[in-house]
Amino acid sequence: MRAEIITIGSELLSFYFTETNSMYLTRKLEENGIIVGFKTTVGDNEDDIINSIKIATSRVPILITTGGLGPTEDDITKSAFSKALAKKLIFSEEILHKIKERFKKKGIEMPEINVRQAFFLEGAEILDNEVGIAPGMWIEDESNKIAILPGPPSELIPMMEKYVIPKLRKLAPYHISRKTLKIAGLSESETDSMISDIYRNIKNPRVTLLAYPGQIEIHILGRSKKSQSEAEETVEGLALKFKERLGDNVFSTSEKSLEEHLGELLRERNETLAIAESCTGGLLSSRITDVPGSSDYFERGIICYSNQSKVEMIDVEKKLLEIHGAVSREVSIAMAESIRKKSKTTYGIGITGIAGPAGSTKEKPVGLVHVALSFEGGYKHSKNQFFGTRSQIKFQATQKALDMLRRHIIEKSNYKT
Ligand code: ATP
Ligand code: MG
Repeated sequence: MRAEIITIGSELLSFYFTETNSMYLTRKLEENGIIVGFKTTVGDNEDDIINSIKIATSRVPILITTGGLGPTEDDITKSAFSKALAKKLIFSEEILHKIKERFKKKGIEMPEINVRQAFFLEGAEILDNEVGIAPGMWIEDESNKIAILPGPPSELIPMMEKYVIPKLRKLAPYHISRKTLKIAGLSESETDSMISDIYRNIKNPRVTLLAYPGQIEIHILGRSKKSQSEAEETVEGLALKFKERLGDNVFSTSEKSLEEHLGELLRERNETLAIAESCTGGLLSSRITDVPGSSDYFERGIICYSNQSKVEMIDVEKKLLEIHGAVSREVSIAMAESIRKKSKTTYGIGITGIAGPAGSTKEKPVGLVHVALSFEGGYKHSKNQFFGTRSQIKFQATQKALDMLRRHIIEKSNYKT
């Protein structure tokens, strides 16, 4: 059972707008056993919208559109549907009454222009808009099921959840289960070569590898005609095989981010962390503090960007900077040790590197980042060569630091037990 999503609006075709409705809808459709066959984005041009509707309804049984239900001249979704499907637009006193009530609640008189929103397509079921003004519509005939939904995500999402998903559930031939394994510290090709023989010839579940800077994700999507539990079992079975192969490289099987997972490890152990970061400019502290409750384990993070600040704020010896340079193994270790001792935490992290695009030398190229972890009785150090844009290099450096601490904690726990 395949669907098409049409997102309507000229702004969606401009370079400054990020179209997100189709992402949300794709997820919801997949979760409910419907595969997205096509996505179309079309501007506020009636002929183009009519054509898109005709093409979509001829190639897939399910169509979902968003946008263009507002009261203004550029909101032409309904008239386009009327022409594409040869269905009349009918005025509804009842809808008009509801719209007027909405305005009354806000203490304003309904502008005349909003009368346009009281028209609906002949034969359509009206979907209430509990957040905004424009109602949505559901149309069913022998060959197609069509949901016509508003553009603003705040209106689209509740309407989808309350009215459309229950209808789609009845149509879907499958029960669906999904799981994501998140991996740090391996590249995409390393990950794939470790597991490809397991999933190469399997059609169900479907396995997709996604590569982000510093993180690989394995998305497993299982389906069953029989039952939800059968769909879940096939997914869990495959996930287990992947985990056996990949071991501690997998840090999450539950949609958690690396910083969330690390936060849990620290909290469970009553351990604390302080950070001195240079080239990442506070990104590591920012990621750690994105997690609610991080004050339980995060003591402080300082940005010591210049050489002078490294000397003044965390007592890195001037001589060390002169001999080895700020981007060096020795300085990263000094930063980690010093911040740990100063803040009396279990762990200290030091990051120093060259995020680029300028600032490189032959010996120290852009993307060179030293990360150090300090703990009672020792330290760990890692020299990395990252690639990509400035922000990608910064992100990979923070990912490396988080993963280094995660692996250290796991190793320590394995050693104890
Ligand atoms: P309104 O009554 O607000 O005019 P509408 O149904 O006519 O609603 P649009 O005019 O197409 O919807 O879009 C309104 C706003 O909703 C857009 O300016 C944009 O901010 C957001 N929006 C619309 N479509 C999308 C989309 N595909 N992805 C993300 N945001 C969207
Ligand atoms: Mg609009």
